[in-house]
Amino acid sequence: MKILVINLPYYGHVVPTIGLVQELINKRCKVTYLMPFDWKEKVAESGAVFYGYENHRRLSEQIKNAYAAAESIVEEFDFIIYEQFFFLGKHLAEKHRKPVARIFTAPVTNDKLMKEFTLKGPLSVFKHKWIARAFTKDIARNIPMKTDNWLDEIIHNPPRLNLVYTLREYQPYEAEFPEEQYKFLGPSIYERKEEAFEFVKGRYPVIYISLGTVIKGAVSFFRNCLEAFRGENVDVIISVGPKFNVSRLKNVPSNIHVYKSVPQLKVLKTADVFVTHGGMNSVSEALVCGVPMVVIPFVSDQPVNARCVEKLGVGKRLEYSSVNQDTLRESVLSVLVDNGIKDNIVKVQKLIKQAPGNIGGAEMIIDYHNSLE
Ligand code: UDP
Repeated sequence: MKILVINLPYYGHVVPTIGLVQELINKRCKVTYLMPFDWKEKVAESGAVFYGYENHRRLSEQIKNAYAAAESIVEEFDFIIYEQFFFLGKHLAEKHRKPVARIFTAPVTNDKLMKEFTLKGPLSVFKHKWIARAFTKDIARNIPMKTDNWLDEIIHNPPRLNLVYTLREYQPYEAEFPEEQYKFLGPSIYERKEEAFEFVKGRYPVIYISLGTVIKGAVSFFRNCLEAFRGENVDVIISVGPKFNVSRLKNVPSNIHVYKSVPQLKVLKTADVFVTHGGMNSVSEALVCGVPMVVIPFVSDQPVNARCVEKLGVGKRLEYSSVNQDTLRESVLSVLVDNGIKDNIVKVQKLIKQAPGNIGGAEMIIDYHNSLE
């Protein structure tokens, strides 16, 4: 089977899909991955054939470029897979009479969740319906849509097969997403290409702190981290992120290690508590590695993820507005000694082991394709 995967240049939307593509290739599918030219190296990790389109700083242009490139080659393929933000995936497939599946790298949205996701952050401009409609009209032009708003299209025009990278137990409003149509794969687990990391765990617990790859300028937050754990019997690893100037953190105590970026999975394997912004990938990786969390959510799906972490009892939520050295220390130390949280993490790890994962996801795609023949 020849499969075309279409995605947009957002790290968290791409990383989980690499494992699925690897499994499809293991099952002898021929996969072509469509991404901007500057993502060629990342796509190479999947083993897929790369097909490029012009990148752009604006989402609307990225979608247009991806659509044009996909349309130029789509006839060669037997099956199309797209990530939810490329909202025209189903329309492209219908136009060319191809079977199709959609991937979610965050919880599936309904109207209520979309409202929350667009409260703050990069999607917040679309709170204004007229902006969302103008954006959609500009991209979709002659493409017949079910609605006039791309976010409504994501919610109300789903394909028959949707693969979701979390557990059903994690998904909010899960009863609204029927089993036959929404397959919860669990986190995407596969062998990652990660750089070496020289850190030897000593006798003290390890606290890992990261706000992901997108949030920038949280200087006061990281300064609070230094003061919260200065002189405490813990070792702290902080990843400040690619956009942060490390020299802004002065007088760093010897039990705290500051990096611009770390191989997160390696670090999580030694960590006892993870202080995170609640990005979907970070939460999933912590659950896979069995690390309790303190979630300090900022934007988009992060507040929803914080709620899910609390619902599963695998960590605590701390509001950014109430973060100071005392609240930070108290939250982390209380999670560290919480046996209830530890037990819940073990339960979730068991659920993850039983979940279909990438192998199951690849089988679902192949079975679905075969069922249509
Ligand atoms: N990450 C990493 N090293 C770091 C910080 C983050 O490899 O020092 C990775 C992390 O493992 C995760 C991704 O970056 O896969 C962050 O994705 P997430 O969805 O959690 O947050 P985002 O960066 O999209 O806000």
